[in-house]
Amino acid sequence: MSATTVELPLTTTLGRQSPDWVRISYASALALRFRSGRFTQPFDFGGINLLLSYDRGCLSDCGYCGLARNRPGGYEEKSFIRVDWPLVETDELVRRLVRHEDKLTRLCISMVTHGRAYPDTLDIAGRITSSVATPLSLLVAPPTLNEARLRAFRDAGADMIGIGLDAVTEDLFRALRSDVPKGGLKWSQYWQIVDAARAIFGAWKVNCHTLVGLGENDADLMGIFARLLDRQIFAYLFCFNPEPDSRMGDLPKTSLQRWRRIQLAKFLLEERGVAAEQFRYDDTGALVRIHAPRELVDEAVTDGHAFMTNGCPSSGGEPGCTRPMGSWRPTEAPRDFPWRPAGAELDQIRAVLNLDGLVRPGPGPSRPPELCAPPAAGRVPE
Ligand code: SF4
Repeated sequence: MSATTVELPLTTTLGRQSPDWVRISYASALALRFRSGRFTQPFDFGGINLLLSYDRGCLSDCGYCGLARNRPGGYEEKSFIRVDWPLVETDELVRRLVRHEDKLTRLCISMVTHGRAYPDTLDIAGRITSSVATPLSLLVAPPTLNEARLRAFRDAGADMIGIGLDAVTEDLFRALRSDVPKGGLKWSQYWQIVDAARAIFGAWKVNCHTLVGLGENDADLMGIFARLLDRQIFAYLFCFNPEPDSRMGDLPKTSLQRWRRIQLAKFLLEERGVAAEQFRYDDTGALVRIHAPRELVDEAVTDGHAFMTNGCPSSGGEPGCTRPMGSWRPTEAPRDFPWRPAGAELDQIRAVLNLDGLVRPGPGPSRPPELCAPPAAGRVPE
């Protein structure tokens, strides 16, 4: 991506807080012309991500997060998922959403852990849904919520709820998000909100963000994907990308082969009906074999959707939230593609996957289509 930016002096951002101010992802700032510049590869982009903004920032302290309370630097200097999130006036943002509505596919407000997060999210959601019809997701901060508040979000017009679980096992969650220097989150409380959201919003209207590379193994990941699939909750995949100066800033990024194999295995499980038992692991929990018909696996790779961004759909069912640069830097090849990979991109994916070393003959789908995940990006089968 290339871009020319005019940044406000940092000090001027103090006092500019939600609900009257929000941060938006860099890609959103380009799409809404808050920043000039363009993506290096042109593609339709309409997923606008907002983030609440406070002078004191997020009061949680997760080991891997760019916004963590204990990470060095003032909140206004911090990046989130390694790129800048420009601060914009909420009402001006809404005016631009109206102006660009025909190109918008999905809107999302990300909460942070803060005492004002709930009323401010409700306020901003109302300003948005009274002005544009683009579907709205809320990526919620469970410590600030309860059932009544989730119902209020639904009544304000949000149609999907995301929960940033990130760490996929209780032990890992505790190590990275609970037993931390400042502000601990609770695994059980996160799941209470998952359960409440599932009850209030319904099947395939709730998603959990899951991160690859925090210290979990492949069996842990596939276990949670299967658990969420059974409950008709989407699992959305993110690749750990170390945030400089965070407590995990020096850890390596997940290897490309592991990442691609997890993307493929998740897709086969969720959307092609391959049973959980057909994925085999070694003593460390690493995925070593997939027992399935080779032609089924080859078709899934060639289809390309397995390697696209997992995200909430647009009203038409196509990919809505595609978060370019969410899991990769602008200078890198995409880890998850905001477009459908093809040609040379698929050749590279196949080379990295090394299917000859991974796939062995096995049974076909055992899960009927009605019990599979609707295509995660909402697409209809061709
Ligand atoms: S996938 Fe995108 S729109 Fe959906 S909850 Fe996550 S960040 Fe929000």
